Amino acid sequence: MSTITAPAEQKIVGEVPKQLYIGGEWRDGAKGTLSVEDPSTGEPLCEVADASTDDAKAALTAAVEAGPEWAAHPPRERGEILRRSFEALIARADDLALLMTLEMGKPLAESKAEIAYAAEFFRWFSEESVRIDGRYSVNSNGQGRVLTMKQPVGPCLLITPWNFPMAMGTRKIGPAIAAGCTTVVKPAQQTPLSMLMLVKILEGAGLPAGVVNLVTASSSSKTMAPLIADSRLRKLSFTGSTEVGRKLMEQASHNLLRLSMELGGNAPFIVFDDADIDAAVQGALIAKMRNIGEACTAANRFHVADKVADQFAEKLAEKMGAMKVGRGTEEGVQVGPLIDNGQRTKVAELVEDALGRGAKAVVGGHARVGAGYFFDPTVLTDIPDDANLLQEEIFGPVAPVKGFADEDEAIAAANNTEYGLVAYVFTNNLKRALRVIERLETGMVGLNQGMVSNAGAPFGGIKQSGFGREGGYEGMEEYLETKYVAVNL
Ligand code: NAP
Repeated sequence: MSTITAPAEQKIVGEVPKQLYIGGEWRDGAKGTLSVEDPSTGEPLCEVADASTDDAKAALTAAVEAGPEWAAHPPRERGEILRRSFEALIARADDLALLMTLEMGKPLAESKAEIAYAAEFFRWFSEESVRIDGRYSVNSNGQGRVLTMKQPVGPCLLITPWNFPMAMGTRKIGPAIAAGCTTVVKPAQQTPLSMLMLVKILEGAGLPAGVVNLVTASSSSKTMAPLIADSRLRKLSFTGSTEVGRKLMEQASHNLLRLSMELGGNAPFIVFDDADIDAAVQGALIAKMRNIGEACTAANRFHVADKVADQFAEKLAEKMGAMKVGRGTEEGVQVGPLIDNGQRTKVAELVEDALGRGAKAVVGGHARVGAGYFFDPTVLTDIPDDANLLQEEIFGPVAPVKGFADEDEAIAAANNTEYGLVAYVFTNNLKRALRVIERLETGMVGLNQGMVSNAGAPFGGIKQSGFGREGGYEGMEEYLETKYVAVNL
């Protein structure tokens, strides 16, 4: 039974194409359908196509067949299609935000911010499509010339997670289209609706058949493994957990596929005693509570100078405790449900583990009783070194605050993780900021700000947060090969 009651909700869910998109045609999945649910109630929203392995193969075939024409397609026209799609996304932002909130749970304002962020990747890469160049240089011995040209990588498989249902798609699809690559896209089964609407928008913007093919499936491993093993595929770009990323790398090693791996995070948020504490608390709220804490960039551990740790924890607890929890469509809600019961149980276990080892809850600490997968915003202090949440990605609205004595201790604690996606540093001392940032083992740093996401910047991690960059000039390089020509003059 559907929980959608408001006409606007019914309308937007009704508008979503529910089929697979292969070779420019919408068609049913051979395995029937899979259910998409509303995490604020646990009730189904609708059914979408469930692809078989043959469907997935057909999607790759369509991408392979469209490849040569798309690679030769005028770059300006590739860019214009992205530009028109950017404009359509912005024009439909309210409806698309509602759809995203229904399937993923985040508050409407945050969904709208994600639509704008997602659209920015199309705008950025619409501009980059006409800036693909090579070089021409004289050999060092003066004889002969070096010529390089950039060419599209070829058919790409793009696999995305549920936490940013649209932006994780546009930051792969945008550069792929701009570079002249064709694609098979596989969104997370929990949140396929945003991506289905995105593909409908691309189709409406004039994207030729076969350039983007969309497969939704209840069994990712069964449908994706044959594609990864297929020698016609040239690249796999994956955003998701480190655990799945490792498996996919193993599979991809057979064909030595080009890879981009945007994996898990365990971001340290470091506050020095010379920082503006109110600004740090404001930054912490964004870094922790954006996306209900379900972001790879979410601050996972707050390392705060001993002198200001209590003050910081109290102020943060006051703000987090005052946040309104509820269905993301409701007025004033700032914290939606977690994606499913499994995720909520994992968050609860991490909190219980910390409390069991001696941590204290300044605010929150519990799952909410009733329908939906809600968890109260939680601030913990007195975190013991062996608490699991210092090592594991929490992916929920839980902020552990831990003191440090000096700069060396802060850096050592921050780097004490297998992950290396992002870190946040709050200090008013520029020399200290640069000194600390140089020693942090992460791909990104937010300096005196709690958010790093930006379509024009290279997003990505090191260590077990993966490799490759999305956004910025670097984002294009992921979809281009460099061919070197030795010219005999
Ligand atoms: P996940 O379980 O790794 O799933 C990600 C995607 O991979 C989904 O589409 C999933 O499909 C698919 N998948 C799972 N197992 C697969 C397999 N064996 N073969 C092929 N595909 C498979 O991650 P998630 O729980 O959706 O997302 C949360 C994770 O993403 C967190 O760790 C977060 O840090 C990370 N993330 C990283 C970034 C970044 O840029 N670094 C950004 C956002 C999120 P199903 O839906 O069918 O399982």
